[in-house]
Amino acid sequence: MPVIYPGSFDPVTNGHLDIIKRCSNKFDKVIVAVLNNTSKNVLFTIEERIKMLEMTVKEYDNVEVDTFSGLLIDYAKEKNVTTMVRGLRAVSDFEYEMQMALANRKLFSDIETLFMVSNSEYAYLSSSIVKEIASFNGDVSCLVPKVVNEALKQKLKGGK
Ligand code: ADP
Repeated sequence: MPVIYPGSFDPVTNGHLDIIKRCSNKFDKVIVAVLNNTSKNVLFTIEERIKMLEMTVKEYDNVEVDTFSGLLIDYAKEKNVTTMVRGLRAVSDFEYEMQMALANRKLFSDIETLFMVSNSEYAYLSSSIVKEIASFNGDVSCLVPKVVNEALKQKLKGGK
C-alpha cells in the first residue's frame, strides 16, 4: 500500500526522518509531500526543503519526495493514494490532527489518516524549535541531519 506523508518540513528533522524510516519499512511506497503554501511563513524555500529531504532519504528505495499546493485531498486524488500518515507527538498535536483528519474525510470519504506515534527520543522535537535554537546559535546537530545543520548555519549567518 502506498502512503503520503505530508508536511511543511521547514526543515526536515530527525523526528520526521524517524517516521519516514518506519513508514518505509511498513508500506510499499512513501511519498513525502512538501507543502508549497505561500501564505505560510517559512525559513527555507520549497526547493531548499525538497533538496534537503532528497539528500536525507536517498538510502530508502521506496521513498519519493514531491511537492503539492492547495488541498491535500486533491493531491491524493491526483496521485491515486488514499492513505496519509501523520506523526503524533504530544497530546497538543491531537486536537489539530483530529480536526484535519475529519475535515479531509468529509471532503473525500475514501481518505484514511493513520497516526504514527513519535519516537520518545523526538517527542519534543519540531522544526520551529530547531529554528529557534539555531537562530540563537545553539547546537542542533543532534536534532537534524547534517545537511540541515549546515543549511541552517548558512541561512542564519549574520542573523541574530
Ligand atoms: P505541518 O506544518 O503540516 O505540521 P511539519 O513539517 O511540522 O508539518 O510535520 C509534518 C508531520 O511530521 C506532521 O504529521 C507532524 O506531526 C510530524 N512530526 C513533526 N515532528 C515530529 C517528530 N519529532 N516526531 C514525529 N513526528 C513528527
